Amino acid sequence: MSGLGKGVTASSIAKLIKEKGYKVSCLKIDPYVNVDAGTIRPTEHGEVFVTEDGGEIDQDLGNYERFLNKNHRKEHNLTTGKIYQKLINKERKGEYLGKTVQIIPHLIEEIIEHIEKTGEKEDFLVIEIGGTVGDYENIPFLEAARQMRREKSHSEVVFIHVTYLPIISAIGEQKTKPTQHSVKELRSEGIIPDFIVGRSEKPLDEPRKEKISLFCDVKKEKVISAPNVDNIYKIPVKFKEQKLGDKILNQTKLKEKNSDLQNWMSMLEKMDKSKDSEKEVKIGLVGKYISSGDFSVRDSYISVTEAVKHAAGELETNYSIKWIDSTDSEKAKKEIDEMDSVIIPGGFGTSGIKGKIEAIKKCREDKIPFLGLCLGLQLAVIEHARNELSLKKANSTEIDEDTPHPVICLLEEQKEIENKGNTMRLGSYPAILKKNTKTKNLYGEKRINERHRHRYEVNPEYHNKLEKNSMVFSGKSPDGKLIEFIERNNHPFFIATQSHPEFKSRPEKPHPLFKGLIEKGIDRAEKRN
Ligand code: GLN
Repeated sequence: MSGLGKGVTASSIAKLIKEKGYKVSCLKIDPYVNVDAGTIRPTEHGEVFVTEDGGEIDQDLGNYERFLNKNHRKEHNLTTGKIYQKLINKERKGEYLGKTVQIIPHLIEEIIEHIEKTGEKEDFLVIEIGGTVGDYENIPFLEAARQMRREKSHSEVVFIHVTYLPIISAIGEQKTKPTQHSVKELRSEGIIPDFIVGRSEKPLDEPRKEKISLFCDVKKEKVISAPNVDNIYKIPVKFKEQKLGDKILNQTKLKEKNSDLQNWMSMLEKMDKSKDSEKEVKIGLVGKYISSGDFSVRDSYISVTEAVKHAAGELETNYSIKWIDSTDSEKAKKEIDEMDSVIIPGGFGTSGIKGKIEAIKKCREDKIPFLGLCLGLQLAVIEHARNELSLKKANSTEIDEDTPHPVICLLEEQKEIENKGNTMRLGSYPAILKKNTKTKNLYGEKRINERHRHRYEVNPEYHNKLEKNSMVFSGKSPDGKLIEFIERNNHPFFIATQSHPEFKSRPEKPHPLFKGLIEKGIDRAEKRN
């Protein structure tokens, strides 16, 4: 089921294979009908991750990139919508002329072709099939997997089934029954797993492993325990302790070429040390995609929170994130007072805007370190126009179409677009950073690249009017037409970017902007205490 940690499991397996000296990447299969995740609200399905080539993809892609420290492409995500779209386009072109186009063989062939093409340049492709066994929607993907194994062999196609072992609180016992039934269901699709990864709050003990082995017909040493850990980056280590990488290589009849998790281990050590560190920062994340019903959904901003974790780890700083709900602006303002740093992440639509603008004003006036991401930059520009340039009704046309001062607006080329899917400014774009700015000093380079996902821009007609008081446009597109970074020259750390730097932060390579934000947060924490 979703939320179990299949993405982290797939990423960790890939990490172990990479560690053995093989080229590996991951492919996520999402059985939903959306062509990509770009039109899904984050509270429904977690964050929308953006790849270098502009794919708007399931958040698991973020985990793949963070664990493997490797960029993935759009093709590394396949959905029901995407594969049907391809099939139907082919049918319309007449590529199946004269034939009845059917799920078997045609759709399945398309899926297999996509998988093989994605893995063409790799030694291994770790494919994560989302959803739950027994769902209608993933039947074609499981069938494709079955056929691949039938055509190839056990050494070319390895099946790993991730299951959940609940611990019933009334009796305190870990139950294997759902795993048994899940395997039964999987077998009815024609797939017999080679490995079972048992997710549970606690490790699987010997009796549980024996039971699973017996009932599910998997060798006991191939039943892998995946208990909860305090840091997801420890999962590859947990799997390594159980020799999962060796066992997979054994089945594929390949030899280990290398074995080095040294960088990863020292990164983990630093993250552990940071928990006992005297340096401590409280980071306020002001967002609106925070709850769903009675539950909070922290995955909406997972790349942002991971980027904070990477930077804090490297700086060996203890950190906590406070979720500040921007839809309650009075409460938000009070909560910000107690923060050492504040982040305003990306967002869409009109709700929660007031609270975010109030938050930015407070950060500006009280010199609280502030990092604005995408919408965060747009709102910082609006706050500046309203409160420092007396353009009281300044706004973004996304929020108020009739504003007299559209400091943020759509560019001409965006105005004609009606479709919502895959039509934003997406993927990696370069920016030229201005000399002697904090932004340039942090990046250390003049020309940088960051990933984007937005429609609106700082209005070119207002550029001259806006760069006043302490506002500095610290980064622009190479043609000088688009504002990519802003900062304030009278503030310890007030930086915002039209891009999403969080997508490029990796545990082994934290992002300079997040590091900068935390460093200044440490200064404020020291002063506050
Ligand atoms: N809604 C804004 C835009 O489309 C900001 C998008 C974002 O924060 N990713 O431009």
